[in-house]
Amino acid sequence: MKRPFIHYSCQSITEQDIEAVASVLRSDFLTQGPAIEAFEHALQTTARAPHAVAVSSATAGLHLACMALNLTAGDRAWTSPMSFVASANAARYLGAHIDFVDIDESTGNISPEKLEKKLQSESPPRLLIVVHYAGRACDMEEIYTLKAQYGFHLIEDAAHALGARYKSGAPVGSDPRTDATIFSFHPVKPITTGEGGAIITHNAHIAATVRALRSHGITRDAAQLKQKNLPAWYYEQQTLGFNYRMTDIQAALGASQMKRLEEFMQTRRSLAARYETLLNELPLTLPPPSDKSGWHLYPIQLKNPGLRDTVFTTLRAANIGVNVHYMPIHLHPYYAGMGFRRGHFPAAENFFDGLLTIPLHQSLSLTDQDYVAQQLTAALK
Ligand SMILES: *Cc1c(COP(=O)(O)O)cnc(C)c1O
Repeated sequence: MKRPFIHYSCQSITEQDIEAVASVLRSDFLTQGPAIEAFEHALQTTARAPHAVAVSSATAGLHLACMALNLTAGDRAWTSPMSFVASANAARYLGAHIDFVDIDESTGNISPEKLEKKLQSESPPRLLIVVHYAGRACDMEEIYTLKAQYGFHLIEDAAHALGARYKSGAPVGSDPRTDATIFSFHPVKPITTGEGGAIITHNAHIAATVRALRSHGITRDAAQLKQKNLPAWYYEQQTLGFNYRMTDIQAALGASQMKRLEEFMQTRRSLAARYETLLNELPLTLPPPSDKSGWHLYPIQLKNPGLRDTVFTTLRAANIGVNVHYMPIHLHPYYAGMGFRRGHFPAAENFFDGLLTIPLHQSLSLTDQDYVAQQLTAALK
């Protein structure tokens, strides 16, 4: 009998989640109803931030956060090459120039030293988008020091990092020195709403701006209206926004999932610690241990990068959903078309060469994890 496919990550849905969604379907509001507020409230509480704005995806959230920071055509934005393309695309939607800051190969995160060097040799960007790769928070203190010195805006792409903690122990999203933090609720991410994202901010102006932009730039709030003394039906469009709303169906699932976030984190952390024991004799570099990372991914590095593609094929044939996160963004043809090539960000390129994501998620059984370790061991022989 063939084993069921073991995904690198996937959702965990309970009857309680299903009931939460069903109750919205039986209610008056499928969208723009009370479930959104409840979900936003849960996010604020977890991230210890005064504002959370739910949107249709993290990509939409990144786009709106860039807009709220007035990123426009010709501005410069920097991000990590070791990320999903959405981290860079957000700035491109607004016509900004993208550049990358090379990573620290021990974590996959932007290297504060390389950021500092780049700031010393070039004029500062308008915006830096840091990425908490695999759920491990960046070294934010060093980045905040550089932000204060050079005056750029700062977004945390925390698509991997809902529930993760900074070095200080505070939750990702909780620091007011960041302009906006973005979470993703795609099914592979820490919790899911099917598709969805949220913008977390400590800045009331950014919160109000993204709230308007997610719904066409329209407001009905009497205090915000440009025209006064108008009838109750009146609303006005004040800026050019989008339909980036999340539905109440999705928000109900999100709020229900939030109740299990800590449990998900504990499971991911203990599975990661277990991999450390299972894999420590193999010719691999494992991610450094952490009890603060959200462990969205478990990315390993083959000491012999030349074996990566055959190991990938062997494990896929054994029904193990290995993956590669990520080919550096600048190597995608769209970005290469802007003049980026191999050699520009050597640490990210080197990190990528032997990179393989092996399964780690809240529904992974110990038996399946043992099977992954055993098949990986055999594939590396
Ligand atoms: C998944 C992901 C996104 C995009 O999230 P969506 O909700 O699918 O739009 C952005 N950044 C990173 C780093 C991601 O992994």
